[in-house]
Amino acid sequence: MTDRARIVIIGGGVAGIEVATSLGRGGHADVTLADRSLSHVWKPMLHTFAAGTARVDRQKVDFFAQARRNGFRFQPGALVGIDLRSRRARLAVEAADGHPQVDLAYDLLVLAIGSRANDFGTPGVAEHCLTIDDLTEAEQFHTQLRRHLLARLDRGGMLGIAIVGGGATGVELAAELKHAINLLSAYGSPDLPERLRLTLIESGPRLLPAFPEAVSRAAARTLSDLGVAVQTNAMVTGADAAGFSLKDGSHIPAGLKVWAAGVKAPDVLASLDGLDRSRTGQLIVGPDLRTTRDPAIIALGDCASLSDPRSGKPVPATAQAARQMAQHLARHLGRALARSDAVAAELPPFHYVEKGAIVSLADFNGWGTLGRYTFGGGRLNGLSARLTHDLLYRQHQIGLYGPLRGTLTWLLDDLDRLISPTVRLD
Ligand SMILES: Cc1cc2nc3c(=O)[nH]c(=O)nc-3n(C[C@H](O)[C@H](O)[C@H](O)COP(=O)(O)OP(=O)(O)OC[C@H]3O[C@@H](n4cnc5c(N)ncnc54)[C@H](O)[C@@H]3O)c2cc1C
Repeated sequence: MTDRARIVIIGGGVAGIEVATSLGRGGHADVTLADRSLSHVWKPMLHTFAAGTARVDRQKVDFFAQARRNGFRFQPGALVGIDLRSRRARLAVEAADGHPQVDLAYDLLVLAIGSRANDFGTPGVAEHCLTIDDLTEAEQFHTQLRRHLLARLDRGGMLGIAIVGGGATGVELAAELKHAINLLSAYGSPDLPERLRLTLIESGPRLLPAFPEAVSRAAARTLSDLGVAVQTNAMVTGADAAGFSLKDGSHIPAGLKVWAAGVKAPDVLASLDGLDRSRTGQLIVGPDLRTTRDPAIIALGDCASLSDPRSGKPVPATAQAARQMAQHLARHLGRALARSDAVAAELPPFHYVEKGAIVSLADFNGWGTLGRYTFGGGRLNGLSARLTHDLLYRQHQIGLYGPLRGTLTWLLDDLDRLISPTVRLD
């Protein structure tokens, strides 16, 4: 038995693993992290695993090992319910001993279970399209890509891939796939790039709507130069085995279809009674990140809906915002716990600092805008943007591993790139 506060964190993604690591290291609370997966990956890298241009095994963080090194406990399982009155989170676990559910009692529950693409109920999408919202899905995509590629290598013909969603995910995935196919053409099929018919479909008037127009134009131009068919103002009305139907009556043929548009909360949040949710299902939180109707529950990252109290603007569903929320909570809750305040201690309001947005088009190009508050505004282009994109991930890694192991991991990744294949089909 312990009299330390019981903090349960559900979801060990960009936000959750940083909070668990930091509070666990502080040693002032009994911290448990739960996740439906056994390892953490940096979600903004999923498209590289899907395309086969990055090695998953090098980038996974084993939750059990991270917990042991950093003073917290890891509990595998998927959140299926919360009893707000008795303060228990219920997890479904894949256990062989006939105990498929575990209840975790908490004094403070931190929900950081991320988000999913939103198909807005478009007919045929659930049956015929892949999404790339977690590692399992990225690996499924890779398996499908391999099957389609092997069929084309054997029998010739065109390889049709269509991606719906011209935000950063769709744009980065399109570029990464083009990059992968170019590299794969060296494996005995030099005409493979010409046999790829890759279409990027966006319902709005331009790609990358969160970026300045000049960046959207430059990204569209780079993709077009690479041979990607970019269709804007194109509303998808349905998907079938052969491709996508558009509102204007046209049909885009594609054997491999990806839905990378929209953001919505994971379905489990819809089943929780007693908490306020946004239109897209995220939990509504106040500036202290506590849910509006239950202060014993905090929501972070993509599964939280929050307007910045200073600007009044919604905090975006990005890795940058998820990290900032995690760091804010870890810092202030950590201090309160060190003073042995109850977990109900008042937390200062969270302010989102826009540090810019960066998009990286594989090895081809990259653009970024710097936030007003960091460098007085400005633009990054080409290599500098791609390096800055990488740096966000490396900062996260250093936070998880500490400066020495984090830097060594970075170095090993760079060395590995010198000896491993640049693209994999296994
Ligand atoms: C391909 C791609 C590229 C992207 N590129 C960028 C980018 O360049 N820059 C950027 O800022 N953002 C990018 N994003 C968005 C970014 O990844 C997310 O905003 C960020 O990961 C959100 O962090 P999070 O901690 O809220 O959720 P996540 O990182 O998604 O973590 C959620 C965690 O919860 C776990 N989980 C989910 N459901 C349950 C459950 N029921 N029970 C238990 N555990 C559960 C998951 O396994 C996961 O570990 C990209 C996203 C994608 C898909």
